[in-house]
Amino acid sequence: MDIQCPSCGEPWDTYHMRYDEPYEWGEARHVTKDFVDAGSRFSGPDDPMCKAAQASGWQFASNSILSFTSCPSCKGRSVLADALVRRQSWPSQLKSTVMTTTAWLLI
Ligand SMILES: [Zn+2]
Repeated sequence: MDIQCPSCGEPWDTYHMRYDEPYEWGEARHVTKDFVDAGSRFSGPDDPMCKAAQASGWQFASNSILSFTSCPSCKGRSVLADALVRRQSWPSQLKSTVMTTTAWLLI
C-alpha cells in the first residue's frame, strides 16, 4: 500500500518505508537493523535515526516512520494545495481502485 507525501504527492510504499528506506540514510548498518527490527519507530526528535532521516530530506509528525510530512521528492516541487489536488496527481489505475473501494464501502 502506498502513502502519499502530503506535501508533494509522491507515493511511498509502506513496506519500503518500514524495511528499506532506513538503510538509505547512511547510518551504520547494525544501528539501522536495530531500528528496523524494533518496528522503525523513532524514540523522539533527537533519535539519531530521525536526525539521519531529516538529513536525507524527511520530516515526520510523530515517532512513526509512516507519519512523514515531507520527503526527499519535495525538493523542486511546489506544495500541493489540498487533498483534491493530491488525488488528481494519482495514477489512473490507483484512482479506479480507490473509486471501486469507495463505491463498495458506500453500498
Ligand atoms: Zn514529498
